[in-house]
Amino acid sequence: MEAPVRVRFAPSPTGYPHLGNVRTALFNWLFARHTGGTFILRIEDTDQARKVEGAVEIILNSLQWLGMDWDEGPFYQSQRLDMYREYVEKLVSEGKAYYCYCSSQRLDAMRQEQIRLKQPPGYDRHCRDLGHGKTSEADPAIAPVIRFKSPLEGRTAITDLIRGEVVFENSTLDDYVLLKSDGYPTYHLANIVDDHQMQISHVMRAEEWLSSTPRHVLLYEAFGWQPPRFAHLPMILGPDKSKLSKRHGATSIDEYRDRGYLPEAMINFLSLLGWSLDDKTEIMTRDEIVRNFTIERVSKTAAVFNLTKLDWMNGVYIRNLTQQEFSRRCLPFVERALPAEVKRPVDAEYLKKIAPLVQERAKLLSEVPSLVDFFFIDGLEYDDSLLQGKLEKGQAGEALEQALNALDNIREWNAGDLETAVRPLADGLGLKAGPFFGVLRVAVTGRTASPPLFETMEVLGRDRCMTRLQVALHRLQPDKK
Ligand code: GLU
Repeated sequence: MEAPVRVRFAPSPTGYPHLGNVRTALFNWLFARHTGGTFILRIEDTDQARKVEGAVEIILNSLQWLGMDWDEGPFYQSQRLDMYREYVEKLVSEGKAYYCYCSSQRLDAMRQEQIRLKQPPGYDRHCRDLGHGKTSEADPAIAPVIRFKSPLEGRTAITDLIRGEVVFENSTLDDYVLLKSDGYPTYHLANIVDDHQMQISHVMRAEEWLSSTPRHVLLYEAFGWQPPRFAHLPMILGPDKSKLSKRHGATSIDEYRDRGYLPEAMINFLSLLGWSLDDKTEIMTRDEIVRNFTIERVSKTAAVFNLTKLDWMNGVYIRNLTQQEFSRRCLPFVERALPAEVKRPVDAEYLKKIAPLVQERAKLLSEVPSLVDFFFIDGLEYDDSLLQGKLEKGQAGEALEQALNALDNIREWNAGDLETAVRPLADGLGLKAGPFFGVLRVAVTGRTASPPLFETMEVLGRDRCMTRLQVALHRLQPDKK
């Protein structure tokens, strides 16, 4: 019987989680959910020097934001140091690993020499056969590291579930460090011990780790453990086909949240970075993806990150939200980005009426505040020339005056009645509806492009609209009482 599926996301908090990290998390999560397996979160925080303050928090928040719930963890490797030491000591006692007392000066000199002779880098195995406790140099003060005794010849083959068989020459592997002089394990040691202890069935991770895998397989062998199955996910490239980097857009996943991408759109988009259902389906719900996610459908070839596609997809998801939900999601963005003069907290009920007017147009939630700010601001700022548009000043003034009169008599302030009252005036003014409405639009919104005019006016309400129209009229005819 197949062992139950147990997968893990094992980020190192040496930076904020970027798209690639989150794609790895997602594929593991999808695989766990598809198979009814277990998704484990493990923080690989053994690199004290490169630790970034706040990174763990952002990792956890990002997973939560995207709805990737974990079943076990988070486990922290820094809290398991004794265990790694125990395991590595066992290897030393069996002659499979050894203490190395080489000073950093010696290692530096060795590296320089390798560069000079154009030799591949790697430890020269100076301490390999000295035996435990013996120093190779007369400096007992040096804190030793423990190195793995890599085989000097032969080959190590890996059967990768995505890439098939990959063979490595053992001669290319050096005696890498398992335990550092500060007592912390290296990534290789901690990763293998934990994957074994946590009974990980499948290791799904970025392709850049493929070259570490023969070391891992040999280490499993040294411990006498069965290695998990491996699946190395394809690289993600930028649109220019170079490795995805900061140049290609937001880096940390929380920047995407702050820019107003919806988590469900992100999940859909990320799932297609290296996986597909077929050649055509793009929009899929989380459940559909879970139902269909298999490793067989993960591609070997690199995925290309396309921001335009993400924006399009986000727009689709925004339009699919109910009006209520859209307005609820806009609220924090509006709260954050409206000018300081607008009273806080922002009136959520009022926003509920406004939001549907821009739902069709917004691709990002962060665009919403600038689309709706005129609903909140008193005293709009705009240039008089905008108001006039292509009309004569007199014509524009006349248009406003007639509109004001017609609106003054309106009983029900709703879009339909507003339009019925105002539209017929265009003919009498000798204007087309477009330029006529244009004057009104600038008067009530301060801009030439806005949501539909009469719906906008309905939501703005009678008082605001009448005041704005009067102010506009006064700007065109300052001398008129
Ligand atoms: N800590 C590694 C990382 O940051 C984990 C790699 C692996 O999954 O083995 O990506």
